[in-house]
Amino acid sequence: MKTLFIAGISGSIGEQTLEVLNSEWFRDNIVLVGGSVYSNWNKLRVYIEQYKLKAVAVVSSNSNLPDYYKDCRIFRGEDSVKDAILSCQPDISLIGTSGFSGLIHTISAIDVSERVCLANKESIVCGGNFVLNCAKKRNKIIIPVDSEHSAIFQLLLGEETKPEKIIITASGGSVRDIPIDRLENVTPKEVLNHPVWSMGPRITVDSATMVNKGLEVFEAYYLFGIKNIEVLINRDSHVHSIVQFSDGVFKLHFGIPSMKVPIAFSLSYPERKYFFDKPSLLKAQIEFQNVDYDRYPSLKLSYDVLGNPILQNAFNAADEVAVESFLKGKIKFTDIYKVIYNTVNKTKQMFSNTTQEEFNSLEDILMVNQISRNIAEQFILEEN
Ligand code: MG
Repeated sequence: MKTLFIAGISGSIGEQTLEVLNSEWFRDNIVLVGGSVYSNWNKLRVYIEQYKLKAVAVVSSNSNLPDYYKDCRIFRGEDSVKDAILSCQPDISLIGTSGFSGLIHTISAIDVSERVCLANKESIVCGGNFVLNCAKKRNKIIIPVDSEHSAIFQLLLGEETKPEKIIITASGGSVRDIPIDRLENVTPKEVLNHPVWSMGPRITVDSATMVNKGLEVFEAYYLFGIKNIEVLINRDSHVHSIVQFSDGVFKLHFGIPSMKVPIAFSLSYPERKYFFDKPSLLKAQIEFQNVDYDRYPSLKLSYDVLGNPILQNAFNAADEVAVESFLKGKIKFTDIYKVIYNTVNKTKQMFSNTTQEEFNSLEDILMVNQISRNIAEQFILEEN
């Protein structure tokens, strides 16, 4: 039996991981020992009882919570995820938290667990090689859970040759068919209604702006060491990514769009132990479209900052601030790009004398994140 900790257990990735754990092989080979939530104590309490958890974390500190619940240690506050992981000592940690804060969870997990299943893309987006080097130094493995990166990871298994190009696929998001001139006025409700994937709120908005795809381009560059990355739209999301080799061979990863598949693969790797629906090949229509950058200007911008972890960090921080403001109705959908563009440019000016070699500590990463968030918040205040 391997022990497992899930950071973000009440979120979309966390709950789909629990569904995977309920299936046959996983039930017999993996035991859940702990998890964390941002604030959802009601759900966490149910999981403590159901799985007899040993230690849990509640990040938004709630002093009303006891230190123990049914023999389960409860940690509270900002460092609680780290404390809970340390207390559980899990063999595997699955990082399902979204946003920059997941980076700290990933680093804590690398310290303790032999395997980190990584669904938090910001861990690599914001730190560049920092997180990957942490894992390398400690001889730990990181298995990507993001569907595109899981696909590429699988496509490259057994390949001795580096591909010439990676092609990441995109659904186009929830407002892909709305005319560009109407995008300014789409509501959070329209944007949160994703046609294919079931995901948390920020990533659903990021899918509509394709900021998510920009973050995935950054992530793929660091995970696979290839800078030639293209994005194509595959509307039904059955092709999860493609690798192209020098001899003209393309390998496609084809399957039903469900996060349970990459989650299960990350847990059972190097074996496949999950049983799931098979798509019909007879009905398959594999079609791709180019990205219209007028519709998705943030994706275009992401190529300008690719490979520069300071600006990737700023790109992400600005988007986190902008999406939160959009969901609260403070800015328009099309303002998200403006916030990111402005923040990236200001951050670039501030750090114009910094080389990437000087930027290699957690403190630096936290500092850039904070500075960029401030710039983004200031810009929103001034423009509204
Ligand atoms: Mg993805």
